[in-house]
Amino acid sequence: MKIALITGITGQDGSYLAELLLEKGYMVHGVKRRASSFNTQRIDHIYQDLHQDHINFKLHYGDLTDSTNIIRIIQEVQPDEIYNLGAMSHVKVSFDSPEYVANVDGIGTLRILEAVRILSLEKKCRIYQASTSELYGGLAENKNEKGLYDEHSPFYPRSPYGAAKIYGFWITKNYREAYGMFATNGILFNHESPRRGETFVTRKITMATAAIALGEQDCLYLGNLDAQRDWGHAKDYVEAMWRILQQDVAEDYVIAMGETTYVRDFVKMSFAEVGIAIEFNGEGVEEKGYVASCSNPDYQLEIGKQVIAVDPQYFRPTEVDLLIGDPTKSKTQLGWVPKYDLKGLVAEMMACDVQLVQKQRMLRAAGHKC
Ligand code: NDP
Ligand code: GDP
Repeated sequence: MKIALITGITGQDGSYLAELLLEKGYMVHGVKRRASSFNTQRIDHIYQDLHQDHINFKLHYGDLTDSTNIIRIIQEVQPDEIYNLGAMSHVKVSFDSPEYVANVDGIGTLRILEAVRILSLEKKCRIYQASTSELYGGLAENKNEKGLYDEHSPFYPRSPYGAAKIYGFWITKNYREAYGMFATNGILFNHESPRRGETFVTRKITMATAAIALGEQDCLYLGNLDAQRDWGHAKDYVEAMWRILQQDVAEDYVIAMGETTYVRDFVKMSFAEVGIAIEFNGEGVEEKGYVASCSNPDYQLEIGKQVIAVDPQYFRPTEVDLLIGDPTKSKTQLGWVPKYDLKGLVAEMMACDVQLVQKQRMLRAAGHKC
């Protein structure tokens, strides 16, 4: 039985990866942070009572800012594979807490690599580092001849998050070259799901679309509608992480769909899923989105109602305007084939968020206040 250790197991990717590895017969260990309230909602369905005879899923309290704790957990678990997914992962928030992000997302990666070395597990343990398309920074001149970012495109991070992750990328590569460790980077473009954090733009849009359609919210305030992202499904992307660690040789891989979409068009797609057409008028901070038609009799939306507005508080001091990745290497070398397209992703997210808003409404109607 292979043993895996996942940092960031309570996050979007950690939860899908844990499910995948359990299906594959792994013993899965996860690092979770102590919080004042439960933070395991995404993995509660796979949690196992420690009093059972045979368990293949175990959580450990820990934090990427604490080397002693990282060393102790790795010593106890003796993992064959470590997936370092733990991070402060929000680009906008990274401008508010840049030092913390450097510590967790940058030095945290070093702590994992050093722990493996200190414990002499270099030959046994393979390491996956969650690198990101934010490393490219969206500079047009750095794309390849196909107009995409690939494994050879230069980096130019545009946020404290990107700058911290670039350290994580290079220190992983350096430990591979310096010590012969199987240490790899997955350079993953944006990936989403019904488990995506509520303040990332896709989930913010699908949750608000459901609430607006059901009459629970009037208007959705967004930032830069002109940003373009290459969005895939997190379930497909965790499969790629696993494949990266099963190769004979440790290398870095871009994981992407190879298509990019405006934030504005993601809004239109989400509303279209529930039968509502949105039209945009105006430019910049004056841009507004209106209901153009509503073909779903369940939703009583007035034609011409304004449902989208721009709020500059969501703008970033420096923005990554456009991301689009080249998945050629991952498709050919890893045999990675994503199962979802963007339409399927939006459909799944909308179905879940409509259900969520309906559930919240029922609970409120039944007198639940908390
Ligand atoms: P999430 O924000 O959903 O999850 C992040 C996880 O990291 C959570 O489990 C969080 O714990 C944990 N974490 C945060 N701070 C610490 C810390 N100090 N010590 C230990 N754990 C910590 O991110 P995703 O699942 O979406 O992403 C997974 C990884 O992939 C991240 O490293 C992210 O930066 C990277 N990435 C993500 C992309 C995406 O589009 N989703 C794209 C490219 C890279 P808690 O639940 O307690 O907050
Ligand atoms: P990121 O690519 O990792 O920064 O993922 P996000 O989902 O946070 O943001 C994707 C893009 O959407 C960025 O270019 C944001 O500027 C843009 N965006 C526009 N409005 C919003 C908003 O209200 N919230 C967030 N999070 N992003 C927004």
